[in-house]
This record gives sequence, structure tokens and C-alpha cells, in this order.
Amino acid sequence: MTVLESESISKRDQKHIWHPLTQHKLHPKMLGIKRAKGALLYDENGKDYIDGISSWYTSVYGHCNDYILEKVQAQMQQLDQVVFSGFTHEPAVKLSEALIKVLPNNHQKLFFSDNGSTATEIGIKMALQYHFNKGEKRPVLLAFEEGFHGDTFGAMSVSGLSVYNGPFEDFFIQVERIPVPTKENIGEVLKQLEGRLQKNDIAGFIYEPLVQGAAAMKMHAPEDLNQVLELIKKHGVLAIADEVMTGFGKTGKNFASEYLQTPPDIICMSKALTAGLLPMAVTSCTQEVYDAFYSDDIAKGLFHGHTYTANPLACTAALAGLQLLQSEEIQENIQRIIRSHQEFDEKLNNHPKVASTRQCGIIYALDLNVKMERYGNLRDRLFKHFMDNGVFLRPLGNTIYISAPYIISETQLQKIYDTIIEVLDIV
Ligand SMILES: *Cc1c(COP(=O)(O)O)cnc(C)c1O
Repeated sequence: MTVLESESISKRDQKHIWHPLTQHKLHPKMLGIKRAKGALLYDENGKDYIDGISSWYTSVYGHCNDYILEKVQAQMQQLDQVVFSGFTHEPAVKLSEALIKVLPNNHQKLFFSDNGSTATEIGIKMALQYHFNKGEKRPVLLAFEEGFHGDTFGAMSVSGLSVYNGPFEDFFIQVERIPVPTKENIGEVLKQLEGRLQKNDIAGFIYEPLVQGAAAMKMHAPEDLNQVLELIKKHGVLAIADEVMTGFGKTGKNFASEYLQTPPDIICMSKALTAGLLPMAVTSCTQEVYDAFYSDDIAKGLFHGHTYTANPLACTAALAGLQLLQSEEIQENIQRIIRSHQEFDEKLNNHPKVASTRQCGIIYALDLNVKMERYGNLRDRLFKHFMDNGVFLRPLGNTIYISAPYIISETQLQKIYDTIIEVLDIV
């Protein structure tokens, strides 16, 4: 053996592992995490951290949730994996029945895949092929500036936040961007869009409803987004809601789309869908979208599939998560966190280091009164201060945001707030 098993996992990691979104020369060291429970992560030296971002918005019912573990352990004894073309199984069927009940009521069909990027990739392919199958030429996608929809080619193309996508831009699909609507620009946005839509060449409009996560939790009003949706719908453009981040309770409702009068034609789900236990995604759509693929002609079908599509264990985790989401306990926790954030916000009122604050459901964000790079030095110092104090928050540029698990205790939440106030002193 060339490595000693007694060496830290953090050290052994450096030999063979290439991490996501990482420039290894600048950031060679990863923190070794040994276990997690509830809202806490424990590193290999035994130090614990409050997971203030639910491990990228996934573990919303807490890590290693006993109820979910029990359900998945039972399923493991029964059926682990089977091909999902030509076969089906109870966990997928049960999940489909439960999910359709909570989705906007125009949604009827679910297409399974593996992660948020594949969920949006499939949403984009559905929109393009929908028009293609109807004999219409609509090769363009519409998206918001500063949107984020994932890292595969279609998803990357529609993402406006492609600062590090230089090597790939020549290969992107056709996308046009519009500004996120605000009270100030809504008139102009609608006017420009109305003009642009006359060409009838836009297949779908993809958007993160109400909260743009990767853009540092930027928020917009449902009334303004709704006007954009009404307009595109009038011109036959499919509305693709990317709820990969906003789905499953984070905005205070099951889906952000519930705040809008105009329901989407397609919804992309992942992250909290499987409660942080296993990777899976679902792209749901209306009967009308599905019907455009339903034909005697085999080529009109959606020829897309992944090996682990609708994995029975992942479906079981998703179903258990959905049951928890609908429980009184979790719903009360969500309301409690919403109130705590509001109280914290009042406390921060007029703080000289804070430029602005915003909240949507359990997502709370504040912008610091300083200019900062997305992955710069000051940002790294803030991150380190949080971690040294046992709080895992991931500042994005000058934005600090909280998206903690619903089961976080008041004491843990208070510790996050106190640490943020300390951090304000060091900027
Ligand atoms: C995280 C995210 C994605 C991509 O999901 P992955 O599972 O990381 O591929 C897509 N859209 C939104 C809104 C996201 O937050």
C-alpha cells in the first residue's frame, strides 16, 4: 500500500480525487466529513458544524433522518434496481401518485432522471420536441439573465451565470435572455418580449420561480413573473419551471409555482426531492405536452433515458420525504423558521454593514455593504470564520444566505444568526 489508512481522509483525498467546481491549485484541501445527523455535520476530528444550507438544499428533513432510513432499508431488502424501460415497480408508482397530488393540478405525467441538470435538460428536450412533433419550427429557448439550470450542455446553455463556461460557449443551443422583471422594468420587459415573440420561433421559457439560487438568492415578485408567463403562454411558448432549488417547501409552499396564477407546463425537480439520501430527479408535465409525444410513430416518443432511472431506493426516499413534508410537524417547523428569520431581520435593521436583506419562505439572504468577488479572498475569510465557529454557510460574493433543514432547533438557528452578526464585524 502506498497510502497509510491512518492518514486523514482529507490527506488521502488529495491523491486521486478531482472535486467539482474547484481550482485545486488554489484550494487543495477538502474537509473530511465522517458522519451527519439532523442539522449537524461532524468532521473527522469530531468537530461539528450546523448545516445552514441543508447540504445544497437537499437534506431538508435533517441528515440521516430515521423515518427515511427505515423506509429505504426495508426497500433495500426487497428490490434494489431494475431497468425502467419495459418494467415498473411499486416505489415509482406510489411516488407518482403522491407527487401528482401535490403538483399544480394541470400536471399529469412524470419523467424520471438522476439530478437537477438532467431534470432541466429533459425539460428543454420536451419543449423542443413538443413543437417539432407538431411540425412547428421553434429552435430557440428563452431564459432569465443570471439564471442557473445546471452543468450539462443544454442546462449550461440556458444558464445566464456562465462565467466559467468559456471553452463551451461555441457549442451552446440557441438561447435568448430577458431581464428578471421588477416593478421598475416590467413595462419595458413585456414590450420587448411582445415584439420578440412575433417571430414564433421560441419553444420554451425556463425560469427559477421567485428565487434565483446560484445568482445568490435573488428574488422577484410573483405578480411580475406572472405577467411574463401570461404573455409567453399567449404565444404558444411552453413554461418550464426549474424548481430544483425552490421545490418541496423552501418558499413556504410545496412549490414556488403555487404563488403564480399561471401554472407551468413543465416542472423540474431534484435536490430536496430525495431528502439528501440518494440522487434522483423528476421532470413533470401536463397531459397536453405528453399528448404531443403519444403517437403510432415510434420516433415521436421521448428517446431519453438513464441507467438508474427511477431507482427503487431513490423513489422510496422521495416518497418518505414527501410524507414528512406534509406532516404537521414539518409544516410547523417551516412556519417557525419563517418567523425566526423575520425577527432576525428586524434585529439587523439599519446595520451599517448590511446593504439589503430579503426572504422567501425559509430562505433568508443579506447583501454586505462591500464589493466582493464570487470566490475571492474576503469571501474565503468569511467562510473560514463561519466554519471555525461551527456554522456551515457558503457566502456567494457579498451575499450571505441561510437555507437550513426544517428540523433545525431554535438554539441552532440562533447560533447561525449570532455568527452572522460576528462576521459583520470582520468585513
Ligand atoms: C442545483 C440546481 C440545478 C442543477 O442540479 P444538479 O443536481 O447540481 O445537476 C439546476 N437548477 C437549479 C435551480 C439548481 O439549484
